[in-house]
Amino acid sequence: MTTLNLTYEDDNIFAKILAGDIPSHKVYEDDKTLAFMDVMPQAKGHVLVIPKQKAVELSQLEPEYASAVLMTAKKVMQAQRQVFEREGIIQMQLNGAEAGQTVYHYHVHLIPTNIHQLGKHASTQADMAELAEQAKQLREAIAAAE
Ligand code: 5GP
Repeated sequence: MTTLNLTYEDDNIFAKILAGDIPSHKVYEDDKTLAFMDVMPQAKGHVLVIPKQKAVELSQLEPEYASAVLMTAKKVMQAQRQVFEREGIIQMQLNGAEAGQTVYHYHVHLIPTNIHQLGKHASTQADMAELAEQAKQLREAIAAAE
């Protein structure tokens, strides 16, 4: 059993992405959420949705941000279905190191695959040009649906 640490650290990777200090392949953004490509995808088209709230995990997420994350996830999922021609989209979210959480800013994974074909977690770096192209296609599909 690991020790649960619910203290939000301002220097986590997703805080830096939110602050614009490190780059990401942005898919969607509004006043409460940001969606971007996972750099170590567990399947082609793996997207992360994060709230603009300092929450380590689900227990700390405020209702308005919980709702906003799911609304963004719905937009992204519909775009993933269209762009990657995959019906199945896994929605995954890890709470605590024991569950395998590695970045301590709450986030939802949206992964276009089948649970039996899910790749290894946070393991292999993707090709950046491919991620950029996938993000562009997803942005266009979301814009077209608005
Ligand atoms: P967790 O293990 O916390 O549920 O998931 C963290 C996710 O963040 C992993 O899927 C991992 O591949 C991804 N990730 C780690 N570092 C970065 C990064 O610098 N940029 C992006 N876009 N994703 C990252």
